[in-house]
Amino acid sequence: MKVMVVEDERDIRDILKNLLEEEGFQVVALENGLNILEDIRQNQPDLLLLDQILPGKTGVEAVREVRGSEQYSKLPIIMVTGLSGEDDKVNALDVGADDYVTKPFYPKELAARIKALARRSSIIGEPGAAGKDRISKDAIVIDFSAHRVWVEEQEIALTLTEFKILAELLKQSGQVLTREKLRERALGNLNVTDRTIDVHMASLRKKLGAVGGQIETVRGVGYRFADRA
Ligand code: CA
Repeated sequence: MKVMVVEDERDIRDILKNLLEEEGFQVVALENGLNILEDIRQNQPDLLLLDQILPGKTGVEAVREVRGSEQYSKLPIIMVTGLSGEDDKVNALDVGADDYVTKPFYPKELAARIKALARRSSIIGEPGAAGKDRISKDAIVIDFSAHRVWVEEQEIALTLTEFKILAELLKQSGQVLTREKLRERALGNLNVTDRTIDVHMASLRKKLGAVGGQIETVRGVGYRFADRA
């Protein structure tokens, strides 16, 4: 599995590279994200670890560019933020990063987060993800093996996290999916805040258009995908 690290500070870049190599990842390290799409095309990483503060083009701008591209819109991305403010984290997720870590990061935690995201992305295998399994619910069709979603037969582009959330909602449609289950099954991180879940959910609803209204908030508990009225 290959991780592309984008970090302008040389010391941190070297630390990240050594750490990830020790954990068994292949690593490509870059000092800026100015030509992010071209760099991805050349290196074909499985996952992007992107610093938020970069010269010329910020991490947020780079994520936006990757998500907006046709080919790499689903590339798993973890943003490294040096800022511990909640707004920066939410902002990172809002533009489409799948997860974030804050500096100073703990090597073992970082490696664990990368592996968790890789598992969610099926890069390193996930039980039951293989095969041509599709489910459909009202106007939505989900293809689990290809990670694709259609609404009214139009394909929509979801981030990996949004995809996982939608999949969990549809798997138990009509029933309440608690925030705890969402954290465990869709986000792979038990420490994700309620606000972060809300941000992912708002983005998912928006992308689903009219169908997004079928995702109901069950106050104080979680969410439910309701049958079409
Ligand atoms: Ca930086």
